Amino acid sequence: AAKCVDVVVVGSGGAGLAAAIQAYDDGASVLIVEKMPTIGGNTIKASAGMNAAETRFQQVKGIQDSKELFYQESLKGGQNRNNPELLRCFVENAPEAIEWLATRGIMLNDITTTGGMSIDRTHRPKDGSAVGGYLVSGLVRNVNKRHIDVMLDTSVSDIIVENGEVTGVRLTTEENETVTVTTKSVIVATGGFSANSQMVVKYRPDLDGFVTTNHKGATGGGIALLERIGAGTVDMGEIQIHPTVEQNTSYLISESIRGGGAILVSQQGNRFFNEMETRDKVSAHIIALPEKYAYIVFDEHVRAKNKAADEYIAKGLVTSASSPKALAEALGMDHHAFLATLERYNGFVEKQYDDDFGRTTALRAPINEGPFHAIRIAPGVHHTMGGVTVNPETCVLDSDHNVIPGAYAAGEVVGGIHGGNRIGGNAVADIIIFGTLAGHQAAMRSKKPG
Ligand code: ADP
Repeated sequence: AAKCVDVVVVGSGGAGLAAAIQAYDDGASVLIVEKMPTIGGNTIKASAGMNAAETRFQQVKGIQDSKELFYQESLKGGQNRNNPELLRCFVENAPEAIEWLATRGIMLNDITTTGGMSIDRTHRPKDGSAVGGYLVSGLVRNVNKRHIDVMLDTSVSDIIVENGEVTGVRLTTEENETVTVTTKSVIVATGGFSANSQMVVKYRPDLDGFVTTNHKGATGGGIALLERIGAGTVDMGEIQIHPTVEQNTSYLISESIRGGGAILVSQQGNRFFNEMETRDKVSAHIIALPEKYAYIVFDEHVRAKNKAADEYIAKGLVTSASSPKALAEALGMDHHAFLATLERYNGFVEKQYDDDFGRTTALRAPINEGPFHAIRIAPGVHHTMGGVTVNPETCVLDSDHNVIPGAYAAGEVVGGIHGGNRIGGNAVADIIIFGTLAGHQAAMRSKKPG
């Protein structure tokens, strides 16, 4: 069977869904192709939230923020290796992306912080649920309302280029049939490659043996797809390990737990680093511990505000006890050391400054309300910052930095925005900001005559 649409979107994570909705709203006919049996990609697992500065929701809460500060902190967190042009575009368009979601019934109006940010700018659903599930279900609602076609269990196996321009894609369907779709615009939103251990180890031999937090579709196939039509790549060795991953289940313990006031404690019962530092640094300090793991510790006060915590309890990942002493005993930890750690930390909360490790954010409340909770964690492969090269209009660039007409890319498949380390909350911002931009660009191209 042959098909013809204005825009083909490859991948149904946040970037793909946002792109599809925007392209449709700009008047294009759209097809979404997803290789997995379910919608949502890795986005559905996103937990922290969506960063943006100078938003309406920050204003309502009296949070003073600036785009410039957001830019500078993302650059510093990225070890100054972010593509400045892409990062500038990202920061500039973030508040609009928050509004884009709000006008489509997706409200991220609770605000917290993540490692490396000095101000509360991580936007979350008000009911305390994880951002990923909330976001994907909201986007899917919008896709359905528009009757946008979604083909599941179908992968894009080739992008067809004729006379230097995209003219179509080849799909391999569930029944293993090959279908050619004629189109002028393809948006590749296939995510990263954290779940492809061979590819990870190829670029980063030091990550051999690490667990991954990602869904199994995160294999980097979209990068190969674009490389075959000449796309350049950048930063392929920049792979983020997330510091707080439960190792038996590879379950990521959301940064929003630390953002809500949790601390990290070693097997010896001591804090060892600023929990609100960036992921690269926190991970490095956990790996440097003699046991190479630590515990994330929080009290009932933190649990009550974060639905993810209940999920961790339900999954059996949490050790809970009525008193700090009982918790230390349950963890096989010296309780004198642990009690002293809590007392010292609670003193820092009171004066809003951490003399030991310089934590200045999320010193929210003393850890003193039972029951007390702990999850044993260690780092896991989480995000691939590298990927294909694009310009700020999301046009894919070849290795000489020339646009490949008709090829767009958005989301984790793209390299450069996050430099050497992605800030928590910047991936969800990335997929909505650049997903909608890609949708708009692709729709505009499809309307041009010829
Ligand atoms: P992002 O956060 O950038 O949107 P996600 O990981 O959330 O990325 O989503 C990417 C989606 O793309 C996943 O659901 C994945 O299964 C899908 N995907 C990857 N490669 C292909 C392909 N060749 N054809 C169709 N879908 C693909």
